[in-house]
Amino acid sequence: MKKMIYLDNAATTKTAPEVVEAMIPYFTENYGNPSSIYEIAGRSKAAVTKARESIARVLGAKTEEIYFTAGGSEADNWALKAAFDAYSSKGKHIITTKIEHHAILHTCEYLESKGAEITYLDVDENGVVKLDELEKAIRPDTILISVMFANNEIGTIQPIKEIGLIAREHDILFHTDAVQAFGQVPINVDEYHIDMLSSSAHKINGPKGIGFLYIRKGVKIRSFVHGGGQERKRRAGTENVPGIVGYGVAAEMAAATMEERTKKECELRDYLIGRILNEIPYCRLNGDPVKRLPNNVNISFQFIEGESLLIMLDMEGIAASSGSACTSGSLDPSHVLLAIGLPHEIAHGSLRMTLSAETTKEDIDFTVETIKKIVGRLRSMSPLYEDFMKKQEK
Ligand SMILES: *Cc1c(COP(=O)(O)O)cnc(C)c1O
Repeated sequence: MKKMIYLDNAATTKTAPEVVEAMIPYFTENYGNPSSIYEIAGRSKAAVTKARESIARVLGAKTEEIYFTAGGSEADNWALKAAFDAYSSKGKHIITTKIEHHAILHTCEYLESKGAEITYLDVDENGVVKLDELEKAIRPDTILISVMFANNEIGTIQPIKEIGLIAREHDILFHTDAVQAFGQVPINVDEYHIDMLSSSAHKINGPKGIGFLYIRKGVKIRSFVHGGGQERKRRAGTENVPGIVGYGVAAEMAAATMEERTKKECELRDYLIGRILNEIPYCRLNGDPVKRLPNNVNISFQFIEGESLLIMLDMEGIAASSGSACTSGSLDPSHVLLAIGLPHEIAHGSLRMTLSAETTKEDIDFTVETIKKIVGRLRSMSPLYEDFMKKQEK
């Protein structure tokens, strides 16, 4: 098999072998239902508790504040819908941003149909929320602020501590979608004044289909799935024991390796960005150059269709992602790239590459050379580029 260079770690990651190994016994000999009372059930129950403790430790949270869900999307849905439900007697106004993941934006649209009023904050040209605009958006009936910790497309990290402080000063709940940030940047829920936080295992080398919502003690949140008494009666259903075990190990590993891993990733990231910007004309970096996820690179190439670039990269064994909403089968440019002010045609020519701990300098060099070749070829076929070059010559 041809070597694959996987640069789409924001979409999902490889499950770490240590994680798989830790999970296997909970499919095989330790298959008991944690709610039962005999011995093998006790083993499942103990494993779930241990994973919950591991995750709580990484966040500086209490064990009983971690509620397992079926992933990041469910955690986002739960946070918003249940907060709206529980606090609607105080008000119906929610503040979020234009660059959230669709799990937040589409939930907001749903809540609007139920009478919620939502303010979608603009961001600056690097994708950072403007704190003065956030303060101005606050109303007496604001019940919730939901701002993502780090953006999945352009990697921008928000001033979460400052946002948390503003929310706290106004006595408003603060939720953050930390799916891209958990395990990548240090997070402490007390220091950052976070009341609710969403996360997902498969973004940090854990298994797919398992996530959690952190809910600060004292926050009035109703149950999301009704049924049995699991997750402190707030999210019913027999626990995904192998998934939870895997998540616990993935979280521990991510925390233990964070410093060293992200230092290396930042170096490779900046090397990749530097080479592309220096060696390929007419391209730009999207997102904040400094307040940025250690593994995220997002570049727009003028006169290029992102989709064509992706397909040609795939033929060379490089897996990356583009800036259009290809999941929905549409070619609409990404809402995030539009929110940072890119014109449609530039947004269309965007490429996201997200590194992992396994990415090497050789991978990056091969990727840059390949992109140079493909961009050259695509531009040589582009009438727009031809026109542009003619004008340059005059
Ligand atoms: C991946 C992602 C989600 C969704 O998580 P799932 O576990 O895939 O449902 C939500 N928010 C952000 C920022 C993400 O990157």
